[in-house]
Amino acid sequence: MLTLSHVHQLFSVETCQAYIHALRWKDRPLQCPRCQSYDVDPWGTYHYRPGCKRYWCNGCQRTFNDLTDTLLHQSKRSLAYWILATFLLCLSCSSRRIARELGVHGRTSYRWCWWLRNTAVSYETDRQVAGTVEADDLYHTAGQKGQAKQGGTKSLGRRPRRRRKKREPGRGHYDKDRPAIIAWVSRQGTVVLQATKDFTVKTVQKAADLAVQAGSRLYTDSASSYRAVKGYLHEYVNHTKKEYARGEVHENRAECLFSLLKPYLRVFRGLSKINLPGYVGFFQFLRNFRHQNAFEQAELILYAALDPSIARKARKGKFVLYMDHFDLLQTAIN
Ligand SMILES: [Zn+2]
Repeated sequence: MLTLSHVHQLFSVETCQAYIHALRWKDRPLQCPRCQSYDVDPWGTYHYRPGCKRYWCNGCQRTFNDLTDTLLHQSKRSLAYWILATFLLCLSCSSRRIARELGVHGRTSYRWCWWLRNTAVSYETDRQVAGTVEADDLYHTAGQKGQAKQGGTKSLGRRPRRRRKKREPGRGHYDKDRPAIIAWVSRQGTVVLQATKDFTVKTVQKAADLAVQAGSRLYTDSASSYRAVKGYLHEYVNHTKKEYARGEVHENRAECLFSLLKPYLRVFRGLSKINLPGYVGFFQFLRNFRHQNAFEQAELILYAALDPSIARKARKGKFVLYMDHFDLLQTAIN
């Protein structure tokens, strides 16, 4: 009897390669990833990578293949690993879980998870909500997990927290290890989530300008930062007076979104405040494509990962930054 320890051992190498080949050139012209020339000819295959097609570029007199300059380029692992990792990521698995299911080192899966998350966020960079929009804010405890310069144990520069970070009353702040997350939920179904360093009037106005189309109807709670926001038809409910809905005016969808975000983030057993925008951005991707199953979502990510320009930015983490760095981000993308 054949016994296997990992599910991807059942995947056929040829099928995976044919799938990635189809995805790589779907809706994209066959062109050289180095000099963008269309003057290319077939150039055989590799004996050690069956099905991976090779091409000759007459422009730069070099060869390239189906994976050149994509996110999967120069990976020692076969495509079955990548496809399964992307699928598991869309099922909200942690990188440790993915490492175990794949049989790779934890650091490999951590790196892959970041690249794939960044790739997914490329679908969300210009996302805006319109129509009737609900907004709410959340403060997530996030410290400096895994931020040691040389790896290994890091000096904390403070007393250890023992069991966990105790919550202070009131609003959080980046410097107090509790950055804010603002959710903009359209009643048509689209969501935008932003990790911000604080919750001042200036930040909220900037967040709204980026996430919500001008002239939209905005329903929030009575927080003063929302009340100062300009450019929208704004109404709010007053939670301190125990008013949670006044006819059409409520923010229950935004609160519900946070009730889904919290258990999603809990899977990772604490996160670094530096990495928070990445996790939040990926959750936004999952919510906006929630009508598709996990493999269809994974296919979207792989399709983007096979675009050399997106892959280059995803490896550098260009898509996930705090909103305060957004101007920087825009220049990086353009
Ligand atoms: Zn070329």
